[in-house]
Amino acid sequence: MTTSYSGLTDRTVVVTGAARGQGLAAAILMAQSGARVIATDVAETAPELDATPVTYRQLDVRDETGWAVLATDLAASLADAPLLGLVNNAGITHRTRLGETELVDWDRVIAVNLTGAMLGIQALAPLMAEGSSIVNVGSSAALTAHYPVAYTVSKWGLRGLTHVAATEYGARGIRVNIVHPGFIETPMTANAPDAMRSAQLDLTPLGHMGAARDVASVVAFLVSDAAAYISGAEIPVDGGFTSSAGVKVMSDRIRRG
Ligand code: NAD
Repeated sequence: MTTSYSGLTDRTVVVTGAARGQGLAAAILMAQSGARVIATDVAETAPELDATPVTYRQLDVRDETGWAVLATDLAASLADAPLLGLVNNAGITHRTRLGETELVDWDRVIAVNLTGAMLGIQALAPLMAEGSSIVNVGSSAALTAHYPVAYTVSKWGLRGLTHVAATEYGARGIRVNIVHPGFIETPMTANAPDAMRSAQLDLTPLGHMGAARDVASVVAFLVSDAAAYISGAEIPVDGGFTSSAGVKVMSDRIRRG
């Protein structure tokens, strides 16, 4: 297991949705690698961060005022460690199909997964120094027609936001990329239907689920100076799922005869 990453020292990094799951793993990994990490989440507390060097702060990514307060506080505390990283990781799922999705649920998913990232970029990009990196956490749903329509559409939107932001901020030396996790074992997927889990395994060339640290290490790499010339990229972290595009099922069936 990776416990540290180079090219992350002397910087402040903000991670959203970091009280648990992939955000928690990314926050801890980057702190272990020498970054000053501000972990945020809608949750009041983040007990799993108690014994770590990570600073915790409550923030609902939908809250524009909350982002402005964070930006003001950060601006006063960046002398030793400039703001060089923002990880828009907060996300929620809602597993309903197109015909049965209520407007209120659609709006909630879009607000957290897409608008939240946009507000974060608007609030913190003005503070970010040359050499900064913004990482958005998409999903393999953003590369496919995954059935939970609000979730899928929110993540496709996040791809668009990523490309616009990479274009907009490139001249300031700010990189913007997106990672696309496949099926990762976290609290979010703990209640996924068994059929979804087994179908995902059938369709994943590596044949097993990912762990939060598998995504965290790619996020840390993209934030780090090691990724200094990568911007506007989309990186699946999905065991080959989207690359295979379902033909693994065909290949396996033909092999069986
Ligand atoms: P998770 O549910 O374990 O963690 C998500 C965190 O986001 C939670 O701590 C939650 O409190 C927080 N959050 C929810 N709403 C928020 C809000 N309004 N403001 C701030 N924080 C909020 O999920 P995870 O699996 O760790 O997912 C992390 C990211 O990865 C999400 O964007 C998710 O869509 C994406 N993703 C996950 C998987 C997977 O298989 N686990 C696959 C593809 C993409």
